[in-house]
Amino acid sequence: MSNRRKFIQHTVLGSAAIIGSSSLSAKLKSGATGQKPLVVSTWDFGKAANAAAWEILSKKGSSLDAVEAGVKVAEADENNQSVGYGGLPDRDGRVTLDACIMDAQYRCGSVMCLEYIKHPISVARMVMEKTPHVVLVGDGALEFALANGFTKTNLLTEKSKKDWQEWLKTSNYKPGINIENKLYKSDSLPGGKDNHDTIGMICIDANGDLAGACTTSGLAYKMHGRVGDSPIIGAGLYVDNEIGAATSTGLGEEVIRIVGSHLVVELMRQGLNPQNACKEAVSRILKRSPQKAKEIQVGFLAINKKGESGAFALQPGFSYAVRSEKENTVLPSKSHF
Ligand code: ASP
Repeated sequence: MSNRRKFIQHTVLGSAAIIGSSSLSAKLKSGATGQKPLVVSTWDFGKAANAAAWEILSKKGSSLDAVEAGVKVAEADENNQSVGYGGLPDRDGRVTLDACIMDAQYRCGSVMCLEYIKHPISVARMVMEKTPHVVLVGDGALEFALANGFTKTNLLTEKSKKDWQEWLKTSNYKPGINIENKLYKSDSLPGGKDNHDTIGMICIDANGDLAGACTTSGLAYKMHGRVGDSPIIGAGLYVDNEIGAATSTGLGEEVIRIVGSHLVVELMRQGLNPQNACKEAVSRILKRSPQKAKEIQVGFLAINKKGESGAFALQPGFSYAVRSEKENTVLPSKSHF
């Protein structure tokens, strides 16, 4: 049997075991019911991003154009210290950005540890469309961006610089829970808090085609060069146009270990609705380390081909924004704890 087939069999059997053992019988309802077009994105700040995506979706534009335009709103917002321009830096004071994008034909592009570029999602899209590769990192990603018309911007705002300098006084490194919303809502970050941050957006357009985008400045005050789940296809984002799409937020290291977003999509393939698929993925993290799970946040968000959405997180406090013909709202995700 080929390695690939063994892997698929193993994955499917593993998932089936978990589904069997956990209560598939717990019949949680999915979020929205069957709407197209539909766009959903992580955290409260997803609402403004959804509005930009909706501009495109409501005019029968493509899901790919919609997710790029949508997350660019969060990337450009300097008051959002969790994504793009104004994002909190690494421990050396460098703002390094991660982003990926995926369309309905399994085409995907990603940039990791990219500095000085305000819209990493657009560079990721260009990697997808203009190169034979999927991922470009660091200097290579920057060179590629500059060669393709992007310009250099200092991404470290005065506010983020001040917060980083405050953090340096203790250099206490512990990812905070739900810090994305706190960073967005409050105008000052208490020194000594370390953070993780992301917008993940997934959508289905009027044609029924899916796409997704995920972009982040990653864990604040991370080691230079650290990359989380967000720009990793399968971990922070996955799109399968036959089944659905998923994205994640929270402590990326834990999401990478279970290839979270791909797992959520595969669980939907087995018949789970989006919320239950997210719940099963969360329970896999929980099962691996029940103790650690108490101290961290991970949230998944998913949509299926029918236009249903759902989310699930480890901790309360994860929210997601939904935009469709009928809805324009931010919903609290259900959570394990
Ligand atoms: N998942 C992101 C990372 O680990 C951060 C987050 O979503 O909070 O880089």
